[in-house]
Amino acid sequence: MKEKEKESLIGKDTNEIIEIVKSFNEKDYRGKQISKWIYQKFTDNFENMSDISKDLRNELSKKYYLYNGQIIKTSNSDDGTIKYLIKFNNDTIEAVNIFQKYHLTACISTQVGCNVKCPFCATGLSGFRKNLSASEIVQQFLLMQRESKERISNIVYMGMGEPLLNYDNTIKSVKILNKEVGIGIRNITISTSGILKGMEKIIKENLQFNLAISLHTADEEQRNKLVPINKNNPLKDLLFLCKKYVQETNRRITFEYVMLNNINDSIDHAKLLIEKLKGIHCHINLIPHNKIYSSENYESTPMNKIKLFKDILSEYFPTTIRVSRGREKDSACGQLRIIQGV
Ligand code: SAH
Ligand code: SF4
Repeated sequence: MKEKEKESLIGKDTNEIIEIVKSFNEKDYRGKQISKWIYQKFTDNFENMSDISKDLRNELSKKYYLYNGQIIKTSNSDDGTIKYLIKFNNDTIEAVNIFQKYHLTACISTQVGCNVKCPFCATGLSGFRKNLSASEIVQQFLLMQRESKERISNIVYMGMGEPLLNYDNTIKSVKILNKEVGIGIRNITISTSGILKGMEKIIKENLQFNLAISLHTADEEQRNKLVPINKNNPLKDLLFLCKKYVQETNRRITFEYVMLNNINDSIDHAKLLIEKLKGIHCHINLIPHNKIYSSENYESTPMNKIKLFKDILSEYFPTTIRVSRGREKDSACGQLRIIQGV
């Protein structure tokens, strides 16, 4: 079988792996053993699977592979953030490990680039190449875990791409990371620009991960500019679905709001936000804008003004200001992009 026609075993759950080993006339428990090698022991080749017969390992490796991704560059920031450049065949993506006091959080990508094209985001400006497969999304986690002495405790889908525009692969990867790797579902956060169709599906899935909506403004007109999918996914309908999400899942929702100097940070903007979010059980996360290279010059709101904005909102909703990590190596929110020519 040609290399290209092989499939990755990563991205398949234990039941699927059991079906595969059964097709080789093996017993169910062999599938469980293989799943354990992949998702618990983070093995990167069939050779290491010492309790699996050589014959089965050989047969498997004729049809399947484990990783098509590899880390080709690592950048360490002084605050401990580590950014990995990962190559999948001809594409590269970036993923980041963020060390906090009690958590190690992996920030992973779902697409190579992004089609949403928010003008303040480096990913959006670097164009769109393709969706990542469920395997490639899970591989980012496994590759970073292999590099790290500490166990990764949290996962945020806040790297490159719009998760809900790659819905099936994103959800499959969440299920694998939760059920097979053992990351608590409440330690997994998906951040979305607010794709209505995807939101409707999420409500039906009733999975208990955290949902973060990149709102950035409560003004319909302005959102058309800041989050261009708003033209086809209007704020009004998005907020209706957010209410429905809270009602049906009993979960609180997070709204992310990037602070852009003199653009969406006035007192009137804060008042409008309060008015629009009234009645939604939520938490607001204000994100200082991280610098990117772009022709449009967005600047972050100064911290004293962000604090003022926060104080206004705090009377109505729990509101926090995100501490940006990894800025010096372009590893922070919105700074991840496609790197050409590697
Ligand atoms: N596409 C998804 C997830 C990836 S972006 C989304 O938009 O939600 C993750 C977060 O980083 C989003 O809230 C996004 O708006 C924010 N972001 C993008 N560019 C940024 C920048 N330059 N500085 C700070 N945050 C940024
Ligand atoms: Fe895409 Fe999110 Fe960046 Fe917008 S902020 S361009 S949706 S990655």
